[in-house]
Amino acid sequence: MASDTAKQPPLIQIDRVSRHYQAGDTLVKALDEVSLTIERGEFVAVMGQSGSGKSTLMNILGCLDTPTSGTFRVNGHDVSAMTPDQLAALRLKTFGFVFQRYQLLAPLTARENVALPATYAHVPVEQRLNRAEQLLDKLGLGDRADHKPGELSGGQQQRVSIARAMINGAEVILADEPTGALDSQSGKQVLALLQQLNREGSTVILITHDAHVAEHADRQIHISDGRIQSDSAPAPTLDIAASEPAPPAFTSVGFAEAVSTALKALRFNWFRTALTLLGIVIGVGAVVAMMAIGEGGKQQVLDRIESMGTNLLLLRPGGGNTRSSGEMATLTVQDGEAVSQLPGVSYVAPERNSRATIRFGNRDYNGRIQGTTPDYIHVRDWGMARGVFFTEQDMDSMAPVIVIGQTVAEELFTQGEDPVGQYVFLKSAVYQVIGVLEAKGATSGGSDMDEMMLIPLSTGRVRVFGRDHLSTITIKVESTDRLDEVQAAVESLMLQRHGREDFMVRNTASLIE
Ligand code: ADP
Ligand code: MG
Repeated sequence: MASDTAKQPPLIQIDRVSRHYQAGDTLVKALDEVSLTIERGEFVAVMGQSGSGKSTLMNILGCLDTPTSGTFRVNGHDVSAMTPDQLAALRLKTFGFVFQRYQLLAPLTARENVALPATYAHVPVEQRLNRAEQLLDKLGLGDRADHKPGELSGGQQQRVSIARAMINGAEVILADEPTGALDSQSGKQVLALLQQLNREGSTVILITHDAHVAEHADRQIHISDGRIQSDSAPAPTLDIAASEPAPPAFTSVGFAEAVSTALKALRFNWFRTALTLLGIVIGVGAVVAMMAIGEGGKQQVLDRIESMGTNLLLLRPGGGNTRSSGEMATLTVQDGEAVSQLPGVSYVAPERNSRATIRFGNRDYNGRIQGTTPDYIHVRDWGMARGVFFTEQDMDSMAPVIVIGQTVAEELFTQGEDPVGQYVFLKSAVYQVIGVLEAKGATSGGSDMDEMMLIPLSTGRVRVFGRDHLSTITIKVESTDRLDEVQAAVESLMLQRHGREDFMVRNTASLIE
């Protein structure tokens, strides 16, 4: 046995790994040439102050993010040379994640939450729920399997999330501040549980700023300013050249072939991006062309705009009187609440958006990130292709959850890989994908609705946008007949609230004209 392990490459080996961020003019070295080896069965704590690079390290270890430079090997395989399918398999079977805020899905029971990652491992439903139940039993929550997260204490929710991390038999549990939101008693239970799992064979990597928490691990690594300051029990560093001959257990892809596959994937993505762009251009062009075709064509255009919803009003900041004066835009969440009280209004969705790059493993996609409220899908008459939309509870808890459009799903995930339940990376934070929207296509304005990434407005205001003004308030009117009446009411309410016309209201019927 001992000679066996000697021959095996280390579980995790990172060699001079850096992760740099460009923040305006300054280069932030979140990780600066870090080298680290972790063997199977270790219980390691990574410790450091806030901003020291802990989460950056965890995201790279869990293949949620990729290093700017340096090599990262899992079981001897260079992660940067893996194909998307290999990476997906690795992520699915090797790593289980536990986060400070549990990240459980509010509408699902404990059992369903635990079973979720097994969905995309293609485990049959019966088997998955049984396994989830066994895990919950083992973690002392057998009698809570049918409870929803809102009916569980923080400590219980964290134990559910640990069960979820283990459902696919993860070799490595990555826990980022798992006790950060718990009282000390529940925190101790969670740490005891991690110790127990480690004794039973799991490798545990615990990330914490708290020295008392770190004491529960066998090995403590201190990082500060993106560098390792100390390591209480460094694993013997293997000479990489010596470990090279280890036969790749899970692929026989040679270097040249791996490079060519990676290049192909890249080219393929470019091609797809170009096609998407072309689709938008054609969409807009087609609308213009049809306008010229005459009545027959016009009807099609009208049908198309109708399908977007004809009974919508768009309330936006800025207006005829303020445009030139450069005054601050002032649309607020309270404006949205006030508007929702008006007669004839059925739903209101405040929206704030910008562009951002979302990442899943080694795939990137630049799309439109939008913070909004649960009513958004009602306003837009939009259905879910998979999973669920976020809820009021997610709003209250500022849940790090995300619902993605079809294009985003296609760009980030391989076929047969279910996005729901996966963790993605956006603006240096991790979000769990809870749903995928139905395909919607381009609007007449030329924006591709399927490139949308939706997060709770509350989460967005803390993590992405800041607390300032909204981009749009979209208002759904009960029926098209009442559009003008409600528009007038919105205008006078807003004038009253703001004391000046620093807003504008557009209706989709005027688009038709
Ligand atoms: P920790 O988890 O230890 O608090 P992080 O790994 O989150 O630290 O961040 C490490 C450093 O990198 C911090 O200085 C942080 O501000 C910076 N950083 C993280 N993500 C980004 C980003 N997307 N853009 C710019 N700087 C970032
Ligand atoms: Mg952190």
